[in-house]
Amino acid sequence: MMPKIYLSSPHMGGTERQYVNEAFDTNWIAPLGPNVTGFESDLEQYLGNDVHVAALSSGTAALHLTLILLGISKGDEVLCQSMTFSASANPIVYQGATPVFVDSEPDTWNLCPNHLEQAIKDRIKKGKKPKAIIAVHLYGMPYKVEAIRKIADTYEIPIVEDSAEALGSTYKDAPCGTFGDISILSFNGNKIITTSGGGALVSHNEAHKEKAIFLATQARDHAPHYQHSEIGYNYRLSNISAGIGRGQMEVLDDHIKLRRAMHSFYAELFSASEGVSVFSEPSSAYFSNHWLSCITVNEKESGFTSEAIRLHLAEDNIESRPLWKPMHMQPVFKDAPYYGSGVAENLFKNGLCLPSGSNLKESEKQRIKVKLTSYT
Ligand SMILES: *Cc1c(COP(=O)(O)O)cnc(C)c1O
Repeated sequence: MMPKIYLSSPHMGGTERQYVNEAFDTNWIAPLGPNVTGFESDLEQYLGNDVHVAALSSGTAALHLTLILLGISKGDEVLCQSMTFSASANPIVYQGATPVFVDSEPDTWNLCPNHLEQAIKDRIKKGKKPKAIIAVHLYGMPYKVEAIRKIADTYEIPIVEDSAEALGSTYKDAPCGTFGDISILSFNGNKIITTSGGGALVSHNEAHKEKAIFLATQARDHAPHYQHSEIGYNYRLSNISAGIGRGQMEVLDDHIKLRRAMHSFYAELFSASEGVSVFSEPSSAYFSNHWLSCITVNEKESGFTSEAIRLHLAEDNIESRPLWKPMHMQPVFKDAPYYGSGVAENLFKNGLCLPSGSNLKESEKQRIKVKLTSYT
């Protein structure tokens, strides 16, 4: 069997070890230390726009704290893009609130402004105004930033920007991760940069950062003894992990170029394939980091399904994966309200994520190319 080609795997730049060694040399083996604050300021500088960043143990933890900061509690309703990874929605349930799922639009595959507004109006009519909107930049593609912001402002509902997949993406030259009332990032092993596991909460409001760090470190009051007036969490990022993050920040721009090159590779490969579309920016306002390169297959035009391509690639130990299965189709969320018209369902049925790593070798790209052209 040929060695496996992964969808997206960790890609170290080289200096990560130095930051980790420094942590060992100075005995900062703890969920605080110079790498944690250093990584935060690296991210603050990268995102610009006067944002404040709290480094946390995961993107999921960042979403959970975000909902707490926005005051989401038992019985509340939170609007959430249906087509996403479950981590976008799970923290709603951690807070005892109810997710209300909303369909995608076909241009960016993200939150559909029309269905979002319809959902808000209907929930208000039913007696409950949703407390937040969770919008996701899927696969690195920015959502319709202005249209979603307009609706959020009209109804005075805060936006939680799930930018877990979109570090380095921009909309009209402004970076993803700066559009939410609070935004989150993820540094899980498969993301565009990784700390092995980690995440961040991002806000223009410095008080959000301070409160997030307070809650992430067990909500300890100012006192010589351990005194608590609020429920705390153990969600701070480790100084070891943050060291990896500091090294990764040095190669983030290279990773973006390489991921975008993978997207161009597939765009060229499929340029003459009837019925296969490579997911691309709808206009020059959008700049995707192309975290994952994705295709959709129109079976009537192509004569084959996306699942057939997946199985064909798997024969040669090349990993590919269906798009995120929408949350309103998940057994665990079967009772949650949903507003939509089948866009996300269709994408799930016909879409496929292809190997997209920034560390794919020329020989591996060749293997992918040979295998794909032998089919399409
Ligand atoms: C990865 C991811 C998360 C969760 O981040 P973790 O760091 O894995 O907890 C949340 N939302 C989306 C869209 C993601 O892809």
